[in-house]
Amino acid sequence: MVEAGYETVAREIIACIRCPLHESAIKRVIGKGSCNPKVFFIGEAPGESENKSGIPFYGRAGKKLDQMVEYMGLSEEDWFVTNTVKCRPPGNRKPRVQEIECCKPFLIAQITLLNPKLIILLGNTAEKSFCPERKLEWGVPVEHEGRTILKLYHPAALIYTASKIEVQRGFIDKNRELWQ
Ligand code: URA
Repeated sequence: MVEAGYETVAREIIACIRCPLHESAIKRVIGKGSCNPKVFFIGEAPGESENKSGIPFYGRAGKKLDQMVEYMGLSEEDWFVTNTVKCRPPGNRKPRVQEIECCKPFLIAQITLLNPKLIILLGNTAEKSFCPERKLEWGVPVEHEGRTILKLYHPAALIYTASKIEVQRGFIDKNRELWQ
């Protein structure tokens, strides 16, 4: 059931020409992970290696996400990850509001199908996409439309600012009951 619905969404993403990002995309980066996740992560946008592989968080930021997930104590069947947009913005720029809005129905369809209790927004772009009307505090969970949402640092921020690694661990430690 979930798989059939998911296949339909995946086909629609592959055929999508709603915004100009599809013109330069090599692969559509749909998502990866469990079809019954406890935790649904939303990143920003595919980068160069994701564009080539079609797999989200395939490059350097992906290694950081894997370390984060391990620190959280999640196993493979516990989580799913996707991005605010499914095509790479050229030159690694951030996705524009209009592009995020065009892609949002896909994100919402994925969340509805996979039905996670917890959504983790990886950085400000994910927040801007999923709940633009809210301004969340880092590491502080809130209820939103029947689910819990939590904003954490994007894994790429942990590469560039090492001091954020400890802060992120603190956010994770404070919130473990949300996924355990
Ligand atoms: N950064 C993201 O936000 N998403 C990816 O898939 C890779 C890097």
